Amino acid sequence: MSYIEIMSLEKFTIETVLSVKRWSDHLFSFTMTRPQAFKFTAGQFARIGLCVEGELVVRAYSVVSSPYDETLEFFSIVVPNGAFTSHLNELTVGTDIYLEKVAYGFLTLARYQSPEPHDLWLLATGTGVAPFLSMLQDFEVWKNYQSIYLAYSVRTREELAYVDQIQHIVDVFSEGHQGFKFIPIITRDSSAVLNQRLPTLIETGDLENIAARQLSAETSHVMLCGNPQMVEDTKNALKGKGLTMNRRGVGNIAVENYW
Ligand SMILES: Cc1cc2nc3c(=O)[nH]c(=O)nc-3n(C[C@H](O)[C@H](O)[C@H](O)COP(=O)(O)OP(=O)(O)OC[C@H]3O[C@@H](n4cnc5c(N)ncnc54)[C@H](O)[C@@H]3O)c2cc1C
Repeated sequence: MSYIEIMSLEKFTIETVLSVKRWSDHLFSFTMTRPQAFKFTAGQFARIGLCVEGELVVRAYSVVSSPYDETLEFFSIVVPNGAFTSHLNELTVGTDIYLEKVAYGFLTLARYQSPEPHDLWLLATGTGVAPFLSMLQDFEVWKNYQSIYLAYSVRTREELAYVDQIQHIVDVFSEGHQGFKFIPIITRDSSAVLNQRLPTLIETGDLENIAARQLSAETSHVMLCGNPQMVEDTKNALKGKGLTMNRRGVGNIAVENYW
C-alpha cells in the first residue's frame, strides 16, 4: 500500500455492518456501528468506503438515523455497474465498512436565520429522503416548526420505502404535534393521488392544495434533496412563487444534489 493510501486511511475508522434491509432489487438500507466520536447534525452526510481490489472507493451518504442513535443507518440506490454501489449491494451483516471520521454538509436547519422557523417543506426524490428522515428524528425540529410537510417522489410504488418507519418516527418524535403531513408522489402510477413531478406540482398549486398551505417567502423553509434535475426545476418553480435561495442564513431554499 502506498504512503498516500495509508495517509488517507487515517481519516477513517473501520465499522461493522449490523443489518441490511432490501426494499427492492435496486434499493436497500443498512445499519452499522457508530464510533462515539462520530458527531453529526440531522441532514448531514458521511463519507463511507469499501476496499475494492485493493483500492478504497468512497462515496457521500446522507445519514438516515437520528443524531441520538447509537448506530448509523443509510439508504442506498444500486446503480447498475456503479463503481461503489455494485459492491455495496453485496454487503451482509459483519462486513467491514470505512467511515470518514467527520460528517459534512450544510443541508441542516441551523442554516436558517431569516425567515424564522414556521413552515418546513422537505422535498425529496428517491434516496434523497434520507436526510429528512434524520431531521424528523430530532425533537428540536418538531418544537420549532408549526407545520412540516414531507413530499417524497418516486417512480413506482415499490420504490416508496420507509412509509411505515415515517409513521413510527412521527409517533415517537412529534409528541402530539398536529402539523405534519406526509405527501407521497408516484410519478409512474396514474392511480396515485399525486403523480406529477415536484416542479409541476408547485407550478400548478397542487402541492399547496394538498398541504392546505401556501408557500411563502415570509414564512417557508424549503429543502430539496436528490436528483439534480428535480432540484434545478423545483428551485425555479419556487423562485417563480417569490421564494429565494438561502444564502448566509437569509432566504427560503436550501438544496443538496446527489450527483
Ligand atoms: C451529499 C451527497 C449525499 C448522498 N447521499 C446518498 C444517499 O443517502 N443514498 C444514495 O443512494 N446515494 C447518495 N449519494 C450518491 C452517492 O454518493 C453515489 O453517487 C451513489 O452511491 C452511486 O455511486 P456509484 O459509484 O455506484 O455510481 P456511479 O458510478 O458514481 O454512477 C453515478 C450515476 O448513478 C446515478 N445515481 C447516483 N446516485 C444516485 C441515487 N442516490 N439515486 C439515483 N441515481 C443515482 C446517477 O445517474 C449518476 O450519474 C449522495 C451524494 C452526495 C453528493
